[in-house]
Amino acid sequence: MEELEKNQEVGEIMTHAAHISSPRRNRPASATVEDIDNGITKVTTQCEEAVSKIILKSIPSDSQITFVRFEGPYIALYTKNPKFALTELTYFLSSLSKTLKKRFIIRTDPSSRLPEDQTRQAVARLLPKDVQVSAIFCDDATGEVVLEVSKPEAIDPNMLVQIAQSTGWIAHTRRSPHIPSSSINTLHSTLKSSARERTEFLQRLGKRVFRESLIVSNVNGNDTTPSPLRQQQQQQQQQTAATTATTTTLSAESRSSKPPSWSASREEVMLFCLGGVKQVGRSCFVVVTPETKVMLDCGINPGEMSGLDAYPRLDWFNFDLDDLDAVVISHAHIDHQGFLPTLFKYGYRGPVYCTEPTLPLMILLQTDSVKIANSNGTYLPYSARDVNEVIKHCITLPYGKPTDISPDVTITLNNAGHIMGSATVHLNISGAHNILYSGDYKYARTQLLDSAVSMYPRVETLITESTYGNTTDVMPDQQSVYRGFTESINKTLTDGGKVLVPVPAVGRAQEIMLVMAKEMKEGRLIESPIYIEGMISEASAIHMSYAHYLGSDVRKSVSQGINPFQSEYFTVISGYGKRDDILNDENPAIVMATSGMLEGGPSVEYFKELAPNPKNKIMFVSYQINGTLGRRVLDGAMSEVSMMDKSGKVKVVPVRCQTQKIDGFSGHSDFNQILNFVSRIRPKRVLVNHGEKSKSENVASAIYSRLKVRSSVPDNREIVRLR
Ligand SMILES: [Zn+2]
Repeated sequence: MEELEKNQEVGEIMTHAAHISSPRRNRPASATVEDIDNGITKVTTQCEEAVSKIILKSIPSDSQITFVRFEGPYIALYTKNPKFALTELTYFLSSLSKTLKKRFIIRTDPSSRLPEDQTRQAVARLLPKDVQVSAIFCDDATGEVVLEVSKPEAIDPNMLVQIAQSTGWIAHTRRSPHIPSSSINTLHSTLKSSARERTEFLQRLGKRVFRESLIVSNVNGNDTTPSPLRQQQQQQQQQTAATTATTTTLSAESRSSKPPSWSASREEVMLFCLGGVKQVGRSCFVVVTPETKVMLDCGINPGEMSGLDAYPRLDWFNFDLDDLDAVVISHAHIDHQGFLPTLFKYGYRGPVYCTEPTLPLMILLQTDSVKIANSNGTYLPYSARDVNEVIKHCITLPYGKPTDISPDVTITLNNAGHIMGSATVHLNISGAHNILYSGDYKYARTQLLDSAVSMYPRVETLITESTYGNTTDVMPDQQSVYRGFTESINKTLTDGGKVLVPVPAVGRAQEIMLVMAKEMKEGRLIESPIYIEGMISEASAIHMSYAHYLGSDVRKSVSQGINPFQSEYFTVISGYGKRDDILNDENPAIVMATSGMLEGGPSVEYFKELAPNPKNKIMFVSYQINGTLGRRVLDGAMSEVSMMDKSGKVKVVPVRCQTQKIDGFSGHSDFNQILNFVSRIRPKRVLVNHGEKSKSENVASAIYSRLKVRSSVPDNREIVRLR
């Protein structure tokens, strides 16, 4: 019954977003969406031809460019001479890039690409003898080949140019993981089977990204005159606003007067808060500019049961999924991306921008949610098919490269120091307003990652998280955290108990593995088996593949051939039988298992068996969201808990074990780090999100009183005018 209700709630949220409130669908029949889309395509094609002519005229003929076209966020130049195009041509392009204010990408002419088996042979001939290739993936949609190799650092840029020249494929390297990663395999096979579809998608997207600006600016960008296309759209929007205004109602909580019609006026920048404010979970904003609508994160709230509280309130935003120019995902945790496949289920077919490692990590977590829902018979608002659509529409961006995603928005992703691939998102809107969305960030180095990047020339609006926003939320220094962690485990082991460390598979698990192996090796942590169960090994394999995204210390040891996620102390567990062996064994042991908040996964199974014994200890090393079993256990709010046993019968589990929370492992900034970050960024205004209400308010008032920066905490379902 409950499942059915949830399904209906998601249906309501999404039907509203996808159909009912759609201004496009409400437009008068005399001016159809197709008219406008055709207009945009026509204008863009003319622009594409003009840009192509300029480029071909201004570059040397040696580059042998066969054609130029808009492709996703880039202008793609197809060459038959990659050796020249990847070296000397890049000098010409960098100055041209400044003139045209566009980013280029070199592709090889499809006719010059060798078949995959011949490419494999050619690559084997060209690479140094001590480099082993574990996999090769040729992507027909981009002409790029990914080489999974044992020593990426042994391959220099010249070798990559040689490979391109002799195979017709532009090569990228990744490190071979210690175990094959099923998420990366899924990724490759989905990309392979959808190559043609993605080629068309990228071209369609290119036309949209480089469409004519609806507002034609003069050189100074001050005088704004609507273009003919804009005038046509404005007329239609006015008619649309008249028809939709009567059907839209607003939340009483909202401080804004009414939701704006789907077009912002010439200079306005609006922020729609759809989730993740005054709470941790379901992060989701939409930034609306005169030209663009871009969604920042699309998460779920794992602690909530009801759809209206668990998912972003897309029903409330008066928009159509077709109107959305892009979704940007800051990092792979489900409270930031768990609702993304549902957008695709309801018809979104636009781009998703994220970093390279975020893609496989996100796919791992989404696929796992599908598996858990299928095996437990619980409700999930999407299926594996929708996860595949996410893969097909993802465009990965490197850190630090500004990328145009629409006529007036350029985004730049930078290291956020939270988990591998986590990013802060900087949006430059027509050079007139800059937003920095922090996502989750750590403004300090950890074992695994470097500190969040904080060098920005200009930020008007900073949106910062505040998970640890109480003035008392100050984390001890790393050494004392490790000492406390080690001593606490040692005590339980000495008393003959078992320690369960529930961990999120991505991020904290890898950090804890590094710390435990080090502490044990150096003799501070009592030697005992460390059992690892759940998605941790798969996530660690992805960490190895993308080790160049890890912090400088780990990168250094990885490049020296050390795999930090493999240790003689670790035993990876799969299957019930082995789990029973561990639980029946009298000897002390440490178990690391997912999920981190005891919401599904093997950690819950271990909890059932370990909780009744006061000798055992549950050690929480990550944030426990309100409403989760982890949070309730940690708060000591329960002396027993009703749970299903293996045969599906309800049994009462007494909770007599010890519990402990260790904060210092968090991938979030503590109170002081948040203030340091804000003072380094020097924004004109701060909006605080991703925190319990009192913590967010504490951060906002501290920013105002100590840093004299205007600061506030918006509400969910509030529209904030930024400009
Ligand atoms: Zn996170």
